[in-house]
Amino acid sequence: MSFSSLGLSEPILKAVSKQGYEKPSPIQEQAIPAILEGKDIMAAAQTGTGKTAGFTLPLLERLSKGKPVRSNHVRALVLTPTRELAAQVGESVAKYAKHLSISSAVVFGGVKVSPQMLRMRKGADVLVATPGRLMDLHSQNAVKFQDVEILVLDEADRMLDMGFIRDIRKILALLPKQRQNLLFSATFSDDIRNLAKGLVNDPVEIDVNPRNQTARTVNQWICPVDQKKKANLLTHLLTDRQWKQVLVFTKTKHGANRLATHLEGRGISAAAIHGNKSQAARTKALANFKAGEVRVLVATDIAARGLDIEQLPQVVNFDLPHVPEDYVHRIGRTGRAGAVGEAISLVCAEEFKDLQAIERLTQQVLHREIIDGFNPINKLGVSRLNTTPIKAKKPKINRQLQSGASLKQTERRPSSKPRTPRKPT
Ligand code: ADP
Ligand code: MG
Repeated sequence: MSFSSLGLSEPILKAVSKQGYEKPSPIQEQAIPAILEGKDIMAAAQTGTGKTAGFTLPLLERLSKGKPVRSNHVRALVLTPTRELAAQVGESVAKYAKHLSISSAVVFGGVKVSPQMLRMRKGADVLVATPGRLMDLHSQNAVKFQDVEILVLDEADRMLDMGFIRDIRKILALLPKQRQNLLFSATFSDDIRNLAKGLVNDPVEIDVNPRNQTARTVNQWICPVDQKKKANLLTHLLTDRQWKQVLVFTKTKHGANRLATHLEGRGISAAAIHGNKSQAARTKALANFKAGEVRVLVATDIAARGLDIEQLPQVVNFDLPHVPEDYVHRIGRTGRAGAVGEAISLVCAEEFKDLQAIERLTQQVLHREIIDGFNPINKLGVSRLNTTPIKAKKPKINRQLQSGASLKQTERRPSSKPRTPRKPT
């Protein structure tokens, strides 16, 4: 299967080949023809599977055939949960539209509204937006919805988690009834299905089960450690194992700041990225990390969601997430596109419940390694795998990870050494 056989026209194919993509990803292979046909779609695929191009390419193709956009109007609306994601999707749209006369704009909160209002005077064929700012602009008449032909909800599950449901429903009520709806999500949870009921019409359902490539190529293990030793342990691991570029997750914004400061104090370049940081600071931190100038990016789940940071060798869970699905999202940041990644969790005794929930969801007991000098005083409980099915809530994750090799590994060699040996110092 090639991009040229999907029904996309030359200007788009040219932009795609500029990106160096050789063939469509599974989600793209299924979504692109359906969207070109004008169907509504509901697609579930994990992070890093190429969803952005999956909806952007056919959307541009369809828009390129219609009438030019009117002042303050929008023809395709893409809603995303976070500012970073909006910016990233906006960049992708601009790249793929390079050889078309299609205009695009990005609007999100946390920055001045007036330049966005000014920009919208020209109208935008594609508007990428976070829900709150979009509502603001609409209420000030800077954005008009009468000409919306296509609606995309990207990372819909995260939008629900972040409490955007009321904004989304308000926006839906304002859009023309006759339109194409594209809903993308990491999973099809009950909440997503409920949202979909009032949104998509007779959708093509796409559920790519990549037989989890991520799970297969991510070496996951945990370090039992006392809470107050975690920062020192991370510093030790960074040095001892010579990690070059690490994404570290913390539960709280405060924790992210504190850890970044701790690392900086030990001569390790670090930056924190979370909802309390100004937009400029977040963009800068991300750019510096991507450029390799910052070695450790400390992020909260919400800030990190959907960030396209390619080929990260290491992801560290400084805290375990309370929501086990977030663990799966977090480790999706590493081992992308066949590259081997490593996901390490620093786990203290108080987090045993969170650990059990993760092990139950992913159906594997994570390998443990205690690092010399960091043997915890408060012992972490012993994991036992609970195989009773979880109430059919997020069956997709379960199924995918069950088919991953890590499960078999644990079953066969319960006390095996971690697969990545320690680097000699
Ligand atoms: P998702 O939204 O599913 O998390 P993205 O759309 O952000 O995934 O894509 C993840 C990465 O994969 C990006 O760096 C993107 O450029 C790359 N990518 C997308 N489609 C392809 C493809 N067909 N071939 C190779 N790389 C691709
Ligand atoms: Mg995405």
